[in-house]
Amino acid sequence: MGCPVTTSDTKMPIAAAMLEKTQRHPCYSFDAHQKFARMHLPVAPHCNISCNYCNRKFDCVNESRPGVTSEILAPQAAKNKFDKVSARIGQLSVVGIAGPGDALANWENTRETIRLIGAENPHIVFCLSTNGLLLPEYAQEIVELGVTHVTVTVNCLDSAIGAKIYQHIKYKGQLYEGSLE
Ligand code: SF4
Repeated sequence: MGCPVTTSDTKMPIAAAMLEKTQRHPCYSFDAHQKFARMHLPVAPHCNISCNYCNRKFDCVNESRPGVTSEILAPQAAKNKFDKVSARIGQLSVVGIAGPGDALANWENTRETIRLIGAENPHIVFCLSTNGLLLPEYAQEIVELGVTHVTVTVNCLDSAIGAKIYQHIKYKGQLYEGSLE
């Protein structure tokens, strides 16, 4: 028997099921780029952070990065769109929710979309992108829902830099502005 695959940082073995999903995720596996496709579903319009550089209001022919969309979909409409795309693209392996706001700041929509698709498509890899602010609240539900891949965007470690990046942050009913110092 060979050595188990490990993460480079922790040397913990990666579970086989998790590894199999990661190998079908083009964002995490170079080889998956050749074989698999992913789609983002725009069900999360709101955000609890206001980054100065963020513009979620438009798209055009030059704006095709994740998070920029032409429309916002309700969960059932997102499921219908997934059904149409997956019927035409057999290599579709990943459904991501990356905006146009924050996946967890729109948790009801995000959860329902994943639930609807996951109920009929157990092979799909679910992926979320978040600023991480609400991860402590939803981490358990995310795991129970079967989401295996979460990207957390971290803009800075220094609050003085954060004060320049963020106009404000809304957290548990409070509005935060400026630096912690
Ligand atoms: S956290 Fe993301 S979606 Fe929210 S304002 Fe910043 S860049 Fe935009």
